[in-house]
Amino acid sequence: MKGQSSPCKPDGEERETSVGWSQRSNQRLLALTALALLFLPPGMAWGVEPLEFKPGFNLFSVRQEMQLGKESAEKVDKTYPLVTNPQVLRYINELGRRLASLAPNNNSEYAWTFKVINSPDINAFALPGGYVYLNRGVFEAAENEAQIAGVMAHESGHVVMRHGTHEASQALLAQAPLAILESMLGREGSLTAQLAEMGLGLGVDSVLLKNSRNAESQADEVGAYILYHAGYDPHALGQFFEIVQKKYPQRTIQFISDHPNPENRIKNIDSEIAILGPAKEWKTDSAEFEGAKKRLLSLPAPTSVSSSGPPPAPSSRLTRFEGNGFSVSYPDNWRVQLNEDAVALVPPGGIVNVAESGAAQAYGASISRFQPQNSGQGNWGLIAATQELVDTLRQANPNLRVIEQKAVNLKGRSALSTLFETESPLQGQKERDLLVTTRQRDYLFSLIFISPEPSFDAYKPTFLAMLQSLEIQ
Ligand SMILES: [Zn+2]
Repeated sequence: MKGQSSPCKPDGEERETSVGWSQRSNQRLLALTALALLFLPPGMAWGVEPLEFKPGFNLFSVRQEMQLGKESAEKVDKTYPLVTNPQVLRYINELGRRLASLAPNNNSEYAWTFKVINSPDINAFALPGGYVYLNRGVFEAAENEAQIAGVMAHESGHVVMRHGTHEASQALLAQAPLAILESMLGREGSLTAQLAEMGLGLGVDSVLLKNSRNAESQADEVGAYILYHAGYDPHALGQFFEIVQKKYPQRTIQFISDHPNPENRIKNIDSEIAILGPAKEWKTDSAEFEGAKKRLLSLPAPTSVSSSGPPPAPSSRLTRFEGNGFSVSYPDNWRVQLNEDAVALVPPGGIVNVAESGAAQAYGASISRFQPQNSGQGNWGLIAATQELVDTLRQANPNLRVIEQKAVNLKGRSALSTLFETESPLQGQKERDLLVTTRQRDYLFSLIFISPEPSFDAYKPTFLAMLQSLEIQ
């Protein structure tokens, strides 16, 4: 299945938060502080902390934040293939904790656990409470320790500024009055379960990772601050962003989606550097970084790309994926892969390499939201919107042919089931897809089950069990 990308908008792309952070007043504060520093005795000027980092509105106590982070991290650990090499882990945890100890608003409760996901995609993310994940691809792209420290310092910035729970708080506030939320969050038991009740799925595709551009700028500022105080050139942070955007545009899709590029990112970082203090003799690289990078580069590639025959049969044990606005069960021998605008649930070997377009999904399921053209007016119909989606898919797969379409009922929701045939990314094979669409607020929610034609019937019971388990909020 390919070519689903352009029409779907990732959630929250245009969202900006306005609570708790005012760029302009901060700049004014910085200007005043810089002025005040002129009147300090020489040598003392940079000894004070001229920057003020103030986290935004938040419903969660630090204790709740820790619990939430821990529960989410457990899910992430189960979902992604983690690197277990002890030297690599020791290296990033030592470096990460050293950097975090210099962060403003650091809390002694934070876990500060750093893990590496065995994925060539360039991505990194941080969960509340100090659970930081870096993809192997970040190490491959980083040219020196200062750059990897830049990424880690930026992620630590998201943690200490409490961006994840800030975003979750904003999302909750849009749903219920403050007093009700406070009493609900005060209850005992799993916080993840409580939030799921309130319509906030907190899996790997969770609101905890949806940073606004403001949050990104803030994480950059904290990141530059940490780098400076750790003795690294704070320019390394901007350098890394520039390198990955220029050199690896296809491998950064998720990174860009989790870290929307703030306007004038490099310029903003540079202007902050000017007030951090005078240049020092910077630490750039270390033998430990080069050693860790070498070890990571020599690791076998993760299992998702394969040409070694069909995937093993789907496990009959199901596990739950909590997405943003939906949840679904899937076989526990499948993996979750987050793409720019879709969540793919994939059996081992279910993603194959295609010469002209990179990786494509040949088996499994893919969930996304499609924005119909006249969605702004709110008066679009399910059938027309589904047709529009099918037409969009057909642009990438001209031989797509609809076999059957019928109205179905998804737990009281009217939905449309469309069975179609197209070309499989597996050479010479036809593919059968079952597309299920329903309206979710202003979007068309779309779930596509994918299999080469000969194995479609074998996968059908799994697909139907998944469909029955689907919950849409
Ligand atoms: Zn970020």
